[in-house]
Amino acid sequence: MAELEFAILGTGGGRFAMITQKRRTAGIRILSKDVNIHLDPGPGALIHSVKMGLDPQKIQTVLVSHAHPDHYTDAEILVEAMTRGMSRKHGLLASTRSVLHGNKNCGPAVSRYHQRMPKELIELRPGVDFNIGEMRIIATKTVHSDPDAVGFRFETSDVGDVGYTSDTEFFDGIGRVYRGVRLLLLSLLRPSGKPWRGHITTDDAIKIVREVNPELVVISHFGMGMIFAGPRREAERIRSETGIHTVAAKDGMRLRVGKEITMSIGNKKQKGLEEFA
Ligand SMILES: [Zn+2]
Ligand SMILES: [Zn+2]
Repeated sequence: MAELEFAILGTGGGRFAMITQKRRTAGIRILSKDVNIHLDPGPGALIHSVKMGLDPQKIQTVLVSHAHPDHYTDAEILVEAMTRGMSRKHGLLASTRSVLHGNKNCGPAVSRYHQRMPKELIELRPGVDFNIGEMRIIATKTVHSDPDAVGFRFETSDVGDVGYTSDTEFFDGIGRVYRGVRLLLLSLLRPSGKPWRGHITTDDAIKIVREVNPELVVISHFGMGMIFAGPRREAERIRSETGIHTVAAKDGMRLRVGKEITMSIGNKKQKGLEEFA
């Protein structure tokens, strides 16, 4: 695996960013020579995959972190794409008990019909790990209104590790979960000073980033309050408080983790970190 790519299909999070599509809610595609994963396919995942030229029929794994609609609504459609329109048992669906079976708050979110077609089904809890090609994926702890929700740590031997917090509020030890990752994808629904149960604010993000100390932080999953506050401004606040490169994700941004971490968007050619900061 010489390079690992994260195509950010959507940067919106929470109900109103989703309903209005002020920011897309299509999740993240993770790509390398032997990996094709769609992570958190919310509304728009199918459409924006096609629009970005990322063939949904090439997906090998659908990963859903929890049973909230901004993370799961297109999961069934992507399972259909992954299984040749439900004609061939293929691929992996990995998700939480809430998504697969339901808990007292939410779910189930993927029908039994769709759970039957992937070749493999994995139920995720913090600590569960599995391999896809040369990549090891570990489900991580969150504290969220779906009590089964997980985040992820993606580990590779040649380009290092990447963390994805998914939706969580701040908890003791969250920094340890992602320590040592090169790239931290931080779901930051709320700006500084506007806390909301089950989510972090920029103030919490600063504490987490200090503990994790990654090469690059990319904030995403913006709620309406965050969109109005200005994600770029909040990213700059994290950067100035921690000294760590922090950028606000944009819909359609592609992050490439190789020897260096580079970014591009649309047809613009690859850019250095400073130009996005
Ligand atoms: Zn969310
Ligand atoms: Zn959520």
